[in-house]
Amino acid sequence: MPTPLPLVFLAATVDAQQLPPSQAEVVFLGRSNVGKSSLLNALANQKDLARVSNTPGRTQVLACFGFEGSKATLVDCPGYGFAKAPKALRDGWLPMIEDYLQQREALRMVLLLVDGEIGPTKSDLDMLAWLRENGLPTTVVATKLDRVRPSHRHARRQEVATKCELPASDVLWVSCTDQQGIDALRGLVRELLL
Ligand code: GDP
Repeated sequence: MPTPLPLVFLAATVDAQQLPPSQAEVVFLGRSNVGKSSLLNALANQKDLARVSNTPGRTQVLACFGFEGSKATLVDCPGYGFAKAPKALRDGWLPMIEDYLQQREALRMVLLLVDGEIGPTKSDLDMLAWLRENGLPTTVVATKLDRVRPSHRHARRQEVATKCELPASDVLWVSCTDQQGIDALRGLVRELLL
């Protein structure tokens, strides 16, 4: 069984150029409230690891985590699609993230989180299209599986995959509440980075 990822907080920055050096990196991307912080905490089996990147209303930062005993890193991007954020913040955010995603040499995989309970939103699908246009390897991770009734899960898996134009087996489903899919995602991250 994959053990928790040995993540340690390294840095938080608004400037991607200031991120610590990395040999191999995965990035978490998703709308605010998709369950990104909960997932990071679950992967590491730590309570407060992601708190630093999850203060609503604060300047949006890229949070970088290292793996004990390795030069690999994991970056947590601020949530996109803030309907309520001031326009200036939204306008500043996207170019920052786009520059980071296009220029970070160590980047191995984008983990794009979508809310499994409500399915991918327009901003999720826009982001996915942009990632594909830019040739960035992406894995779609659907969160909150426990919130989908077991009798609806098969159909929901198909629906999310169809919207993302993927085979159903390519979407990873997770739940932080009951730990479903967490080990599989830990295994994927280890395979990519360690
Ligand atoms: P973030 O804004 O993407 O970092 O999202 P959070 O991790 O803060 O989660 C947003 C809300 O969704 C919180 O109320 C979490 O408790 C809840 N949540 C996150 N993951 C799960 C999950 O797997 N199952 C359920 N039922 N709720 C979740």
